[in-house]
Amino acid sequence: MTVHPVPALTPVPRTMAALRIEAPDRVVPARLPVPVPGPGEALIRTALVGLCGTDLELLRGTATYLRDGRAGYPLVPGHEWTGTVVTGGPEFAPGDRVVGRTMVHCGLCRSCRRGRRELCERLTEVGLYGRQGAAAEYLTMPQTALVRVPDEVGDRAAALVEPAVTVVGALERANCRLEDRVAVVGTGTIGLLAVQLAARLAGSVDAVGIDPAGLALALRFGARRAFAPAGAADREYSLVVEASGAAPAFRRALGLLADGGRLAVIGVAGEPAEGFVPGELALRGLSVTGVRHGVDHYDQTLELFRSGVLDAEPLIAAELPPAEGPSAFDRLRRGRAGAPKILLDFGGTR
Ligand SMILES: [Zn+2]
Ligand SMILES: [Zn+2]
Repeated sequence: MTVHPVPALTPVPRTMAALRIEAPDRVVPARLPVPVPGPGEALIRTALVGLCGTDLELLRGTATYLRDGRAGYPLVPGHEWTGTVVTGGPEFAPGDRVVGRTMVHCGLCRSCRRGRRELCERLTEVGLYGRQGAAAEYLTMPQTALVRVPDEVGDRAAALVEPAVTVVGALERANCRLEDRVAVVGTGTIGLLAVQLAARLAGSVDAVGIDPAGLALALRFGARRAFAPAGAADREYSLVVEASGAAPAFRRALGLLADGGRLAVIGVAGEPAEGFVPGELALRGLSVTGVRHGVDHYDQTLELFRSGVLDAEPLIAAELPPAEGPSAFDRLRRGRAGAPKILLDFGGTR
């Protein structure tokens, strides 16, 4: 194991640069007090933060967390991040590179006790509700929610661990195996990571999506074929991963399944799926699994990036300074083509 010298740490300032959503459609660079870690918490110097569709929903004001009152403005977003421990201990030393679990669970409630930590009754989620997000130079995290990043995994890959854990959890829960013919619907970060992983786990994987550049990336990641939604064959697949979050994609995904097939739903569609006939599930023997988050899959996912099964680099469209945060959100809003992930660089690289 390589032992790195502990870096000379600059003193922690009193205030920090952050990105703050202040109202619907208003995100601004802000100066905020550096948070003070509570008992059992570590102070983290943030390196990279990824933005995703959930952050865009927080900005638009359409996120469920805002609608049900768990989240409110102003808020610092950022749940996909990597950084360096400033103060921690005993488990973590200054200079340790870490990623954090988005979901911070209580460990005591009924859901936690039966091993469903992602359904914790007192759950908070970093950058979503109950905890400041990582779009800031510093954040505090319970040490129990931190995971050390191996030296071989760079910061850019580490910043993609958070979306990737859900993909790993989904394919595991859907019991993806060699005899499967898999279709992945959606070519965002989640969809393209699902293609990368299914290309290793399943007999074959096809990609289905509306972005030609995203479909081209999927082919590069091992998809056998790539289709616009109407172009894919009905009843062809034993396992479909819905990663687009578009309501019509749910109906399309069911159509792609062969009888007896399994659908893993990761995308979060907020609208009703028109044309969905519940009886179809029974008559065709279909299974539908909703996957909220891969809270238990951080170590496994880091190992998949370390070994090269998952490849972050082709997914990253841009790495921008925090001052360009508002324009990064504009880019997300306009929609994207090809590489899906925008990272913000908060400067905390070791
Ligand atoms: Zn996300
Ligand atoms: Zn709990």
